[in-house]
Amino acid sequence: MAYACKIGAVDKPQAPTSHLAPDLGDMSKEDFRRLGHELVDWIADYFHNIEGRPVLAAIEPGDLKAQLPSVPPIQGESMEKIIEDLDRLIVPALTHWSHPSFFAYFATSTSAPGIFGEMLSAAFDNKAMLWRTSPASTELEEVVLDWLRQMMGLDPGMHGIIYDTASVSSLHAIAAAREGVEKRIREEGMSGRSDLPLLRVYVSEQAHSSIEKAVITLGLGQRGMRKIPTDNKFRMDVRALAEAINEDKRNGYLPFCVVATVGTTSTSSIDPIAEIIPIGEEHAMWLHVDAAYAGSAAIVPELRHILAGCERADSLVTNPHKWLFTPFDLSVLYCRHMDLLKRAFSLVPEYLRTPEQEKVRSGSDYGIQLGRRFRALKLWMVMRYFGHEGLAARIREHCRLARLFASWIEESPDWELLAPLPLALVCFRTCPAGKDPDSLNEAIMHGVNASGRALLSHTRLNDKLTLRLSIGNIRTTERHVRDVWDLLNEQLQLLR
Ligand code: PLP
Repeated sequence: MAYACKIGAVDKPQAPTSHLAPDLGDMSKEDFRRLGHELVDWIADYFHNIEGRPVLAAIEPGDLKAQLPSVPPIQGESMEKIIEDLDRLIVPALTHWSHPSFFAYFATSTSAPGIFGEMLSAAFDNKAMLWRTSPASTELEEVVLDWLRQMMGLDPGMHGIIYDTASVSSLHAIAAAREGVEKRIREEGMSGRSDLPLLRVYVSEQAHSSIEKAVITLGLGQRGMRKIPTDNKFRMDVRALAEAINEDKRNGYLPFCVVATVGTTSTSSIDPIAEIIPIGEEHAMWLHVDAAYAGSAAIVPELRHILAGCERADSLVTNPHKWLFTPFDLSVLYCRHMDLLKRAFSLVPEYLRTPEQEKVRSGSDYGIQLGRRFRALKLWMVMRYFGHEGLAARIREHCRLARLFASWIEESPDWELLAPLPLALVCFRTCPAGKDPDSLNEAIMHGVNASGRALLSHTRLNDKLTLRLSIGNIRTTERHVRDVWDLLNEQLQLLR
């Protein structure tokens, strides 16, 4: 894939000297200060010049590995040399998620205060497994997640906990739901038990694959998950859900959890939570809401309705690392039954006992990890720097840009929308007569991506290959959206 990068190495100031690591101990204070300043300059230039870089890494599989030594360095090397190789080898092998024309998957981005938070968290290097191993991390996490809960308009009965990703948050939610069925699964496991019926989790056909992976990981097996069809707006068909649960009960199965999605991955569709809730309640099932992508949008007052019904959900996941300008990774699980989560995961050996343990919260009681990163710090810095209004303004603008792009699609005879647009994701394709639409749209997408000027991704809806344009990057402006529209039309003219 050929693409001429407009700039070479990032404009790095020349280092006056080149210092190696001392014989023992860490880098000297003077070197740390000088190199640290240079690295911040490097990052500032990286952001400033990012539009000169191809969004998608313009390399072939194996290219980077072929340029790296296969044996570790015996002697230490200078940071100057390491940064030279960062410019020469690593940066060209990056796909630039911070590029404002990154429109693929769910476009996301870091932000300056978030980067500072990561830097400080690396400096503190706290392992927040017990309250005493990081009181700051433990207590700041509770406070910051309660701020976010208020901003999203979630019920005060919901308590937050941070994990790395939504995949892991949902896994923990389903584990807590399974603990709630009172079948002594923690103690006795699931295998070899004739007294245990088939436990079932219900999701829509549009649910994210992470839910199925969680079900597999928890030993429920793929048979333990039932996929419910969706309506013409890609939302869970509530009547089909009720019928599936009733049928499973007649067969002696144990329906115990429904996972509804607010903001599905393919189309950002929103399952009708308020209608799903009574069905779950009728069968005493746990309702987990996967709002990994869209949850952040609920901080915008006029979009808060996307979480309507969630006040009665048992748990909900949202990812500030998706659409809240917080560097990857930071996922939040809100849960109404922290006692069940704790029952599922708490195991305190002698060497972790502390005198205060009954009075405090310790993160390791609520998950499979022992040590936990100080992730709350970066979210705290992001929330304080931008404020609720600043964050909401950025998300609101992304939704406006997506609607603008969708309006161009609607006005054009060459393109069509393939799904409603509740937030900032546009699903579309071109449909000229006489061409196979799937291969044409695929070729257009590859053409756009190979140009290095923008990055799109795709999905399949109603068996049609569908292009996706997701707007969520803090640097994306109307100019970038116009550019990708022009690029799509250029590709269409070339290929039609
Ligand atoms: N749920 C939804 C709806 C998603 O769109 C995604 C990823 O895009 C995930 C879950 C998984 O997110 P993570 O990478 O944080 O595990």
